[in-house]
Amino acid sequence: MAFTVTSPNVVYTEKYIESLYHYETSEVKQHGGKIEVIPKKTVYTFKTERKVPKLGCMLVGWGGNNGTTLTASVLANKLCLSWNTKSGVMKPNYTGSVTQASTVSLGTGQDGEVFVPLKALLPMVEPNDIVFDGWDINSMNIADAMRRAEVLDFDLQRQLRPYLESLKPRPSIYCPDFIAANQADRADNVLKGTKKQMVEQIRADIRDFKAKNQLDKVVVLWTANTERFCEIQAGLNDTCEHLLASIARNEDEVSPSTLFAVASILERCSYINGSPQNTFVPGVVALAEKYHTFLAGDDFKSGQTKIKSVLVDFLVSAGIKPVSIVSYNHLGNNDGKNLSSAKQFRSKEISKSNVVDDMVESNPILYKKGEKPDHCVVIKYVPYVKDSKRAMDEYTSEIFMNGTNTLVIHNTCEDSLLAAPIILDLIILCEVCERIKFQAGGDTKFQSFNSILSILSYLLKAPIVPNGTPVVNALFRQRACIENIFRACVGLGPQNNMLLEHKHS
Ligand code: NAD
Repeated sequence: MAFTVTSPNVVYTEKYIESLYHYETSEVKQHGGKIEVIPKKTVYTFKTERKVPKLGCMLVGWGGNNGTTLTASVLANKLCLSWNTKSGVMKPNYTGSVTQASTVSLGTGQDGEVFVPLKALLPMVEPNDIVFDGWDINSMNIADAMRRAEVLDFDLQRQLRPYLESLKPRPSIYCPDFIAANQADRADNVLKGTKKQMVEQIRADIRDFKAKNQLDKVVVLWTANTERFCEIQAGLNDTCEHLLASIARNEDEVSPSTLFAVASILERCSYINGSPQNTFVPGVVALAEKYHTFLAGDDFKSGQTKIKSVLVDFLVSAGIKPVSIVSYNHLGNNDGKNLSSAKQFRSKEISKSNVVDDMVESNPILYKKGEKPDHCVVIKYVPYVKDSKRAMDEYTSEIFMNGTNTLVIHNTCEDSLLAAPIILDLIILCEVCERIKFQAGGDTKFQSFNSILSILSYLLKAPIVPNGTPVVNALFRQRACIENIFRACVGLGPQNNMLLEHKHS
C-alpha cells in the first residue's frame, strides 16, 4: 500500500520525506460591527524521519481490563491465532483502530477513487511490533488478569495463556487517597519509599525495559484507575521547579499519575493520559516543554462521548438546536467500581461535560452568548454486566417552528474492546509525531510540535491543548486534522471534498 508523491515540492531522501507546503488560513478582524477576513499563506517545510523505530509501550494499570485486552489482542494478531466460538472460528483483527482499519482517499485514477489505509500516509510502527510492559498495584500476571477481565473468548484465552503467564506488572505507586477506597484489596504490588524514590524507581524501570528489549523509544500511557482531581496550588505544582521540590518534600497532594508523568518526561518519553484526572498540572506541562517531550490527554474517547461529538456536531451544523442531553451509563467492571466513589466520578463527570461546548459556541444563530444545552451525566456500577457497558442517551432538540425532536440511543458494548484499539492509535500516532519536524515562514530552525500534542484530540474525551488554542471536540474536524497534517508531510493538499474536477458541464 506504499505510495510516492511526484512533485517538485516533495523530496524522498534515504532518511527523510521532505515537503514544501503552502498553508492557507485566514485572519479575521472585527470592528464597528463589521467583519474583515484576510486570507493568509505561510510556507512550511516538513521533514519526517523515515526509519520506524523499535517501540516499547509501558502501561500504567497493565493488569486492568484495557491493559490485558490490548496486550492479549496484539499477541493474538501477531501469532495469527484463530479460536472457536459458538458462532464459528474467529480470527484476530484491528477493527476500531483509525490507523489500521480506516482509509483515506489519495485522489482519483483511471479506476476511480483510490483509498489507502490511514497508516500508509507516513511510515508508522506496526502494532504487532510493539513490545508491552507496565506497572500495576495488583500483582496478578497478565494471563490471570486477562481471565479476570472476562473480555476475550475462552478458547483464545486458553491459547494465549502460556505466553502471558510470565508477564508480571512491575510494582507501582499507590496513594490510597487518590483512587476509590474500594480498590484497596487490589493493592498488593506497591512501591515503598518517598515520592522522590518512587519516581527514581519508575525511571529505572523505563531504562531497564528499554535496555532489555533493545528498544529505540518508549511511550508511557496511563490506563490505571481514575484518580480524584488534585489541587492546583501556587508553590506546590504551578511550576516545574515547585513540582520537583514538592516531590522532594514528599507532598501528599502530588498524585501517582503526576509522578509517572514526571518520571516519563525525565526519561524523555512521551506520556499519554487515558483517564480523566488532572495529571497535567502546570508544573508537568512546564517540565515537558523544558525537555521537549510530548503529553497527550485526557481520557480515552471510546463510546458515549464519541457518539456525542458526532451527533451534536451533526445537529448544530444542520441548524438544529439540542437543548437537553442526558446520558446514563451502567457498567460492572473494576473501572465502574472505582467510579462508584464520588470523587472519582466527579473527575469523569468533568471530562464528559465540556464535549459539546465548541459545537454550541460555533452557532450564535441557535445559542445566545453563554447559553448551553442542559447536559447531565449519570454513571452507575452494576457488577452483573461486567465489561459490557450500557450507555443510554437522550437528545432533545428544538426544530422548525419550535417543534421538538427527541433521539434516544441505547449502546451496549465491551468497554475494553472499544478502548484497546484507541490505545494503539494513541501510541502509534504519538510516535510518528515524534519524527515530524517543521519550519514555518522564515524560521531558521526546524521545530517539533508543541509539547501538548493536540493532534491526538480525536482519540481523547477532554483534549488538552496548548494555552490560547481553540479546543475542538467535533470528531470529524479532529480526524481531518490528523489526515491533513499527515498529507502536508507528503506534500498533498488538505482533503477538501470539493471534487471540482467532476463539476464541469
Ligand atoms: P481497570 O480497573 O480494569 O484497570 C485499571 C488497573 O489499574 C487495575 O488493574 C488497577 O489495579 C490498576 N491501578 C490502579 N491504580 C494504579 C496505580 N497507581 N498504578 C498502577 N496501576 C494502578 O480499568 P479499565 O477498564 O482498564 O480502564 C482503565 C482506565 O481507562 C480507567 O481510568 C477508565 O476510566 C479509563 N477509560 C476507559 C475507557 C474504556 O474502557 N472504554 C474509556 C475511557 C477511559
